[in-house]
Amino acid sequence: MIREDTYKLKGLRKQLVEELKQKGIQDKRVLQAIENVPRHYFVSAGLEELCYKDQALPTLARQTISQPYTVAYQTQCLDIQKGDKVLEIGTGSGYQAVILAALGAKVYTVERIELLYEHTSALLATFNMDIFCKLGDGTLGWQENAPFDKIIVTAGSPDIPQNLIQQLAVNGKMVIPVGKKDCQTMTLVHKNEENNVRMTYLDTFRFVPLLGEQGWTE
Ligand code: SAH
Repeated sequence: MIREDTYKLKGLRKQLVEELKQKGIQDKRVLQAIENVPRHYFVSAGLEELCYKDQALPTLARQTISQPYTVAYQTQCLDIQKGDKVLEIGTGSGYQAVILAALGAKVYTVERIELLYEHTSALLATFNMDIFCKLGDGTLGWQENAPFDKIIVTAGSPDIPQNLIQQLAVNGKMVIPVGKKDCQTMTLVHKNEENNVRMTYLDTFRFVPLLGEQGWTE
């Protein structure tokens, strides 16, 4: 699918970046990535302008493309460096994966819903970026490609899946929303040289549930 990136949509993206700055996003590289990546490539036709408001939007299979503030927030937490190997759980629309790749990460992304996986992996292939997609239960991680420098979970989890902790590299960082189904605390997990993990608890958010063996059962 070929979409246009018009002058008007570029302008709306600049405005969105200003709004994110005012809401507290400071990382210049993250803001630049949001300005560079056309978010409207990831939403249904007809939502091109609406998608530059700072709000979540519906995607296929009753899932959502996270709010731009949330994408910026989680990305900023990870402090992505060029060449970082990043595992994303919850491919969804693919927008977050492209933001990570735009910052120079090599992205491994897992989605559990087949329809979304099919649709989004085809879309992501057109970007010619270092993004690898897998259909499966992301609560189990992606063992063949572990360890990961960074892990980002884009669905709300009742707890931190053990497999993800195991697959995090030494000195790695994971960002994951943890809590109840309707409200989660963004949790930053650091793994130190001794393989111990330290948690930092940040702001609250509301994500769709992480469903799977080490997530919610339904
Ligand atoms: N990162 C996405 C946001 C997706 S919303 C974006 O940029 O658009 C969360 C996604 O997590 C949904 O697509 C949902 O199907 C997926 N998901 C939920 N549980 C999962 C699991 N155990 N493994 C992989 N994906 C999961």
